[in-house]
Amino acid sequence: MKFNAKLKEIETYEAGKPIELVVRDFGIKPEEIVKLASNENPYGCSPKVQNAVSKIVANMALYPDDSMMKLMAGLSQKFGVAESNLIIGSGSDQVIEFIMHAKADKNSKILINSVTFAMYAIYAKHVGAEIIRTASREHDLEEFYTLYKKENPDIIFLCTPNNPTGDAINKDAMFDFLEKIDKDTLVVVDGAYMEYAGFKDVNKNIQAQELIEKFENVIYLGTFSKAYGLGGMRVGYGIANDKIIKELYKLRPPFNITTLSLEAASVALEDENFVEKCIASCFEQMQRYEAFANKKNIGIIDSYTNFVTLLLRETQNSKEISDALLQKGMIVRDLTGYGMNAIRVTVGTEKQNDRFFELMNELI
Ligand SMILES: *Cc1c(COP(=O)(O)O)cnc(C)c1O
Repeated sequence: MKFNAKLKEIETYEAGKPIELVVRDFGIKPEEIVKLASNENPYGCSPKVQNAVSKIVANMALYPDDSMMKLMAGLSQKFGVAESNLIIGSGSDQVIEFIMHAKADKNSKILINSVTFAMYAIYAKHVGAEIIRTASREHDLEEFYTLYKKENPDIIFLCTPNNPTGDAINKDAMFDFLEKIDKDTLVVVDGAYMEYAGFKDVNKNIQAQELIEKFENVIYLGTFSKAYGLGGMRVGYGIANDKIIKELYKLRPPFNITTLSLEAASVALEDENFVEKCIASCFEQMQRYEAFANKKNIGIIDSYTNFVTLLLRETQNSKEISDALLQKGMIVRDLTGYGMNAIRVTVGTEKQNDRFFELMNELI
């Protein structure tokens, strides 16, 4: 059977290996497996969420509230924006998909960082758009501007803090850059880890309200999958000028968020205290990774997220090391596919991190 020729260019995305597969492939007990591969919150979500969700599980015959009234109100309040500035997706992944279909086609160019979140390129390929990448590993906004002038892209993605490297763009530098961009170019600011960056350094904190007030051609993305501990619920959102949101809405399938997910995300927003505590613990534990890297003389990128990127020495192979860790039930992300001899490790609980250091001490 013949399929759309575009599919030839697309490789199936390999998500972090789930615990279920490690149990099956290596015969390790589920309770002995530690997953530090997808930047989920190791402390889970607010206990209030579990309580609220368990109350509605009996009620699943009806379609969800497609107006998403409760979550819309919560997000609108959290960010100080109108509901007409918001769109909610099945993960912010789905909002990226809407953006791509709304703005790009096979004649378009998409400008992204050399090393960044894989889904931008995947969705760009869905529409047959050309992908332009910078050369530098950190977002170099001068290089972005040079490429913008030269290539005239339809969409620019700025991922800050960046996944999988953990570094973040300064707000002032970003705003200076955005001033120079034509209003017909859509700029996506992906803030999947912004809660962490804002906690660590005010200079990296991008506020969606200020961003969209100043720039009518910018969309901010956020998610409940990371700091809010709801990766399994698949809820993300986009915040932008209502003209952009209106177009994206045309691409949204009805009922794209389940009743359970809507409730979970709404209630999670009511317990910011829980999220704050998790973030504080994350940065406390992160210091142990910095000390470990120094002791072992391996590189570590200064991180504004809930993960660290360890830059291994030439004599250490990141693929071999992550495979060896996997055999022992420790799941981390090998970055060979991103052209880096590095591993990305989600900062876990104290106990999970103990296990990581124990295994790494055996390996290197
Ligand atoms: C995790 C992540 C997302 C999206 O996560 P969803 O689970 O789809 O909301 C988006 N961007 C970056 C950079 C991420 O790391």
